[in-house]
Amino acid sequence: MQDATTLTEYKNQCQEALDDEFLRKAMDAFAKAYRTNRVNAFAGINEKALIAEIAAAKDGAISHLPELYEEFRVKAELAGVHVHLAKTAAEANEIICQIAKDNGCRKIVKSKSMTAEETLLNHRLEADGLEVTETDLGEWIIQLRHEGPSHMVMPAIHLSRYQVADLFTDVTKKQQDSDIEKLVKVARRELRAKYIEADMGISGANFAVVETGAIGLVTNEGNARLVTTLPRVHVALCGVDKLTPTLHDALRIIKALPRNATGQAITSYVTWITGANACATGPEGKKEYHIVFLDNGRLAMAQDPDFRQILRCVRCGACANVCPVYRLVGGHRMGHIYIGAIGLLLTYFFHGRDKAKNLVQNCINCGACKEACVAGIDLPRLIKKVHARIQDEDGHALPSVLLGKVMSNRKLFHTLLKTAKWGQKPIKDGSTGYIRHLPMIFGKEQDFRALPVVADKAFRDEWPEIRPNVDNPSYRVALFSGCVQDFVYPEQMKAGVRVMDGHGVEMEYPMGQSCCGLPLVMMGESGPARDVAEQNVKAIDPAKFDYIITLCASCASHLKHTYPRMLADDPQLAGMASVFAEKVIDFSSFVYDVLGVDKNDFREEGGQGKTAYHSPCHLCRGLGVTEAPRQLLRQSGLNYAPSAEEDVCCGFGGTFSMKFPQESRELLHKKLDNVKASGAVELVTDCPGCVMQLRGGTDVRKDGLRVRHIAEALADRKK
Ligand code: SF4
Ligand code: SF4
Repeated sequence: MQDATTLTEYKNQCQEALDDEFLRKAMDAFAKAYRTNRVNAFAGINEKALIAEIAAAKDGAISHLPELYEEFRVKAELAGVHVHLAKTAAEANEIICQIAKDNGCRKIVKSKSMTAEETLLNHRLEADGLEVTETDLGEWIIQLRHEGPSHMVMPAIHLSRYQVADLFTDVTKKQQDSDIEKLVKVARRELRAKYIEADMGISGANFAVVETGAIGLVTNEGNARLVTTLPRVHVALCGVDKLTPTLHDALRIIKALPRNATGQAITSYVTWITGANACATGPEGKKEYHIVFLDNGRLAMAQDPDFRQILRCVRCGACANVCPVYRLVGGHRMGHIYIGAIGLLLTYFFHGRDKAKNLVQNCINCGACKEACVAGIDLPRLIKKVHARIQDEDGHALPSVLLGKVMSNRKLFHTLLKTAKWGQKPIKDGSTGYIRHLPMIFGKEQDFRALPVVADKAFRDEWPEIRPNVDNPSYRVALFSGCVQDFVYPEQMKAGVRVMDGHGVEMEYPMGQSCCGLPLVMMGESGPARDVAEQNVKAIDPAKFDYIITLCASCASHLKHTYPRMLADDPQLAGMASVFAEKVIDFSSFVYDVLGVDKNDFREEGGQGKTAYHSPCHLCRGLGVTEAPRQLLRQSGLNYAPSAEEDVCCGFGGTFSMKFPQESRELLHKKLDNVKASGAVELVTDCPGCVMQLRGGTDVRKDGLRVRHIAEALADRKK
């Protein structure tokens, strides 16, 4: 399938993937099994410490890539290796074609190499009349189908054994059984002859160890050993980012790589090749051995203070394995050649913005990839940064520019929201609080969830009347509502105030605050997003408060993590923004960890029916808060019933759900199905965006589930 040129085309392709029942089932089964296998594989290992060590070691190497290359070259050449450095993909391909020509090679066997996929090496070799055979089973299958990989580690994950049996029947001209073991035997039989006939073997390399001049290969099928051993010529192609100072550094990565890739403690084969080995058919009884290092923008990337961390990637593929969007649409739609979260980034840098411009928008910013990355790469943030960069290079879309202009002007934005209260009257359903008929601008595809109307009175307008008077306060706090709780769900804020009331908390609601700016980041509008951050930091002087409390998980994570970075270059605001960020706390953590609210605060009689919990992405991964809300549910006497995949995204993602409604709907249904299976009659969460998605979805499905913000559930149970 051709790469989409427009967003509409891309969305249509995603829809086709969503309609592919086999793909959906396969990806779903894989995602579930992977979660369990990964947890088991890391049992007993301090994963966070290991990730930090890998990141630090990789960063050290990234700072010295030219020096490491030189040192490696000298070591490897002493051991009889020819070492090349290719500036571009085309140059790498030319070098390899020339090696084939110089050595009279006609037939080539290859083991898996994402770098060779990156350079489109096979096409170039075949253009020179060379016969190239992929020998990794998955790679061979997709080569026969003339497709690209749909996963970096499992390239044919999108195919069923029946499709593979049909393919092998065509290739062998003999009917083949769909039994997997039999199919593997067919591949083995067909490929063995290719190894014997080949005069050149091409491999990748997971490591180029500088202290020894060796390369390391981490594989499961053993084909790489045959590829690098049998033919008289061996060419290893790898990115310069694979230069690793010591064997110890490589072994540290090996401790994490297979665990993160496939949930294995170790792969079946780990191969180290140092120098040109003996080879009866090679010149002077030695193998002709070349290592081609590929730059293709990596050395420039190593100089970029922000994007250089991309070079830490060890290509484990975990950022795809845990990605809810990848799980829905698969790798051919969630990447170009490299797939998953890292694929969205590498596509921009290696294959250009035309290939990346649609892909980078298909990220819901759930943070699952960042949490799973063994190299500690801040993937979601960098994806948003690339999106913003593409907008700057290509021109901003008009709706996105308008949104930026409106949201960065607080008075205009709030006036429009207040005016909407009158404008919505003809479409408002008075009995439910939902919009009865979605206006045309939303389109039919948005009807998978009911949308709420703007509240009659904003929280800011109610505040002067409801503000509690507190004598001798223990804490002075500022409330940050975000725009949804201010204008759509003020009752959530009021419930939060009620829960905290009586605990010596003096609350203030600074009126100069506005939207947190996250929707602007999601739209790639980094300038207006920064303006909004500045307004909020100035509106809520952190020096006056012990805490800045927000009942919105997305606002909390954005205020805490993004504001200091966005304002770091302003000498007047940088310090204030860091203090501001330090004082930001989510509602559940403040109530449970700081105020120490427990069962004594709540009525004794138990709640009615079971209560499920949805853990918002920006709370559990963004802020690392997992226990406080669940403890509060237990303490309050609500009958908390855990459900499957509580921490998987509900599909909201702010503007994502408007842009990719088909994916948003699927994620929502998966979430509601899991809640239903738990037998819960109520679903509680900590984010107004999630409430909007989940409550609107359950209303359309009519499955009788009550959805509330945790503040509402707790306020209801308060004595
Ligand atoms: S943030 Fe979530 S949706 Fe985006 S790439 Fe990472 S895992 Fe996928
Ligand atoms: S970005 Fe991280 S999780 Fe993704 S492939 Fe690279 S190392 Fe693995």
